[in-house]
Amino acid sequence: MQYEPVIGLEVHIEMLTRSKMFCACPVVDSTNAAPNTAVCPVCAGHPGTLPVINGQAVEFALRVAAALECELAPISIFARKNYFYPDLPKGYQITQYEQPLAENGKITLQTSKGEKLIRIRRVHLEEDTGKLTHVEENGHSFSLVDLNRAGVSLLEIVTEPDFRSAEQVRVYAESLRALVRYLGVNSGDLEKGVMRIEPNISVRPFGQDELGTKVEIKNLNSFRALERGVAYEINRHIELINSGGKVAQETVGWDENKQVTFSQRSKEDAHDYRYFPEPDLPPLLVSKHWMDDVRSALPELPWQRSQRFAQDYGLSATESWQLAAEKAAGEYFEAVLTSLVTSRPPNPAEVRTVYAWVTGELFALMNISGTGFDTLKIQPNALAELLKMIAAGQVNQNTGKAILVTMFASSQSAAQIVSEQGLSQVSDVQMITELVSAALAENPTEVANYRAGKTTVINFLFGQVMRKAGGKANPQVLRSELERLLQGN
Ligand code: ADP
Ligand code: MG
Ligand code: ZN
Repeated sequence: MQYEPVIGLEVHIEMLTRSKMFCACPVVDSTNAAPNTAVCPVCAGHPGTLPVINGQAVEFALRVAAALECELAPISIFARKNYFYPDLPKGYQITQYEQPLAENGKITLQTSKGEKLIRIRRVHLEEDTGKLTHVEENGHSFSLVDLNRAGVSLLEIVTEPDFRSAEQVRVYAESLRALVRYLGVNSGDLEKGVMRIEPNISVRPFGQDELGTKVEIKNLNSFRALERGVAYEINRHIELINSGGKVAQETVGWDENKQVTFSQRSKEDAHDYRYFPEPDLPPLLVSKHWMDDVRSALPELPWQRSQRFAQDYGLSATESWQLAAEKAAGEYFEAVLTSLVTSRPPNPAEVRTVYAWVTGELFALMNISGTGFDTLKIQPNALAELLKMIAAGQVNQNTGKAILVTMFASSQSAAQIVSEQGLSQVSDVQMITELVSAALAENPTEVANYRAGKTTVINFLFGQVMRKAGGKANPQVLRSELERLLQGN
């Protein structure tokens, strides 16, 4: 029997509003702020307090929903989801249930196997819960409660069960992360838990319409863990069914060390949340005017930019996504290109050069030092100037790389560095010929070997001449002079 994986995703995104969803408490970085320093009677759930809807949170939510091509609801309703647990001091979470902010959206994924359309079921607003830390000490176990996160505005994005592979799930998560960063809604830090992805996985025989029993994975804090966790569950379900077993509906966690899932909660533990409309809040009204404003203010979206790069510049899908996934990276790339090229559209060689330098040398320097585009000292036109000097033969490729390292640390221009350090490329044929002659005279054995047919020694001799030139010789001139003299012309 052949089985088809069926997966749907729930994603929670903490929004970068300055204050919480329903009160004036500041939103603090829960990984380093002192516990319980951003709490007030409203988010602590004191009787007699009243929540107020955060307008910025609604604006952010509308942006995401509009980018996902959802129908925006002119009226949406907040509801109480009741449960008793110390991470939620009120005894209930305010969320949207029957009438969410937005529904029926879609996103087209660019996967290695082509395009895949995923339907978005709903996008709704809610508040986050506090953080519990479970402690074992001297035979006692207890839990510490930090309410800094309780009440922070949260966006939940739920898809239809449209995914058919672990790769599709990863591409969706990466696309969504890029989107919320473009829109300024979230930092996309999976490790910090500000973006939380929960896949629901089932399998069914090919051709069957009815869904199989689903398992939900929690605590996935990287795209790698997400892809592997989903693949692991798909295999587990198929093996279980093939060996005569039945999948149990449950929630599992992902063990990063063992690369396996483990059971956390079974269906029997499911709550009855007794949802009802939140009596302390009015319906949320979004005018047509507001919706139109949000839609028309949307920037070029990451996947749109990626497609444009592929089309306009002839980059592969992977290459263009590498640049488009981060807004500032794509902008930097285009700025270098604009300042380098003389004609529009740029020729393919110019595009390849800029792509190679930005994603190769520059990204490497940025990664090693943890530098972002916001603090990068090399302006796009400064990199373009360096690339022009290389193209004009003023410095060679390797010297260019060394110059970039200096520019990265000092913010000096390429021209300044070249003149201060005397790095100009030597293209003078007579000077290079003299260096070649000297190197050949010093290495008679290699010259003899070359002439006896062992032509690969030319690389060694090339290195010797380049060393004499202090790395600055024009490599094309060097190679042709070397070949000429070796062949005795
Ligand atoms: P729950 O109420 O348990 O959270 P929902 O019906 O709201 O379940 O669905 C949550 C997510 O799980 C959605 O993304 C949905 O597409 C997906 N989903 C629901 N049933 C299945 C299934 N049998 N297999 C895979 N995904 C599913
Ligand atoms: Mg669920
Ligand atoms: Zn508060």
